[in-house]
Amino acid sequence: MHFNYCPHCGKKAEMRQIGDEGMIPYCTECRIPLWDLFTTSIIAAVVNEYDEVALLRQNYVSTTNHVCVAGVMKIGESAEETVVREIAEELGLHVKSLKYIKSYPYEKKEMLMLGFQAVVDKQEFVLSGEVDAAEWVKFENALPLLRDGSIAWQLVRTVIKEKNKNCDWSTR
Ligand SMILES: [Zn+2]
Repeated sequence: MHFNYCPHCGKKAEMRQIGDEGMIPYCTECRIPLWDLFTTSIIAAVVNEYDEVALLRQNYVSTTNHVCVAGVMKIGESAEETVVREIAEELGLHVKSLKYIKSYPYEKKEMLMLGFQAVVDKQEFVLSGEVDAAEWVKFENALPLLRDGSIAWQLVRTVIKEKNKNCDWSTR
């Protein structure tokens, strides 16, 4: 969100030079720069010991493509805690280990998504009400089920690539 008015006092913001950041909306009443506000969320490629990734159907997100576990961070949570909570809530699975992959700006929704790989033991899912279905999908079959170029697609592609790279190392 880009502020034209101060969210604290409602005064119209003035543009002001803030250090090296350039012209930033500024509230002369509260004397604070009104930085752009975005929502921080997580997205996780949940993988198991058989080189499979958990892909979800969430009809409120997409009726045509699968998606990954994703969710918005709560105040006071670390990104890692959000990942563990979302995977427990959406799939009923316990995370064994986590690895941060990279961040993905999602401009349309004014979000920054922090992408993780989460390793779990292969188990049956216990789905939350907001997940319509979930399945374990072999790495080689996963990308075509995701919307081409989407953040989920980019994340899963990176996780698969890294996994394959690691396999090369282990055979040297
Ligand atoms: Zn103000």
